[in-house]
Amino acid sequence: MARILNSKCKKCRRAGEKLFLKGDRCYSPKCAMIRKPYPPGMHGKRFSRGQSEYGKQLSMKQKIKRIYGIMENQFRKHFKEVRKKKGVLGDMFLARLEMRLDNIIYRIGLSGSRSLARQLVNHGSIKVNGRKVDIPSYEVRVGDVISVSESGKSKNYFKNQLQILKNKKNFPSWINFDNSAMEAKIKSIPKREDTDANVDAQLVVEYYSR
Ligand code: SF4
Repeated sequence: MARILNSKCKKCRRAGEKLFLKGDRCYSPKCAMIRKPYPPGMHGKRFSRGQSEYGKQLSMKQKIKRIYGIMENQFRKHFKEVRKKKGVLGDMFLARLEMRLDNIIYRIGLSGSRSLARQLVNHGSIKVNGRKVDIPSYEVRVGDVISVSESGKSKNYFKNQLQILKNKKNFPSWINFDNSAMEAKIKSIPKREDTDANVDAQLVVEYYSR
């Protein structure tokens, strides 16, 4: 387990910034970006960040993949999905990543990390419009209602989390959370400014357009 946790921190250290992949630990002094703010490896401290255009595009692609915890095939698939649509490709791509069901669970605060959110979805604890959905990449639409399944609600984890959410105030502006029903409703497609990550998805567009 420790090895897996460390590898998440290495992703941040390679990206050169916090990607917030480990929940509460990311906000504590134990964060590796505080203790070792340089790339991992023997020569990490001497690492030079001068990069070509291709290098910048590649680094940004890796960074966004790491933030959302998505493998290359899936990442490329999401890109192909939005490529067919009209609009600013970079913004639409980020919005597609934000509309993944695992990301919604993370954004609401039902999990402290997207990797845990993925597990919760995989275990069949989440419903969309009253139906169980166990696919983390599932694309949630505007108007969809996301809730915890009955079996999930009986688990201690969700009992605690739902109790925390009852008092939570700062939900994303594009998600409406109903405290009495303990349900989240998607109000709108997230805009560029709604994503808190310091990312430039246009570089990914350029990378895949080469
Ligand atoms: Fe680790 Fe800090 Fe990155 Fe969280 S933000 S994954 S604690 S390095």
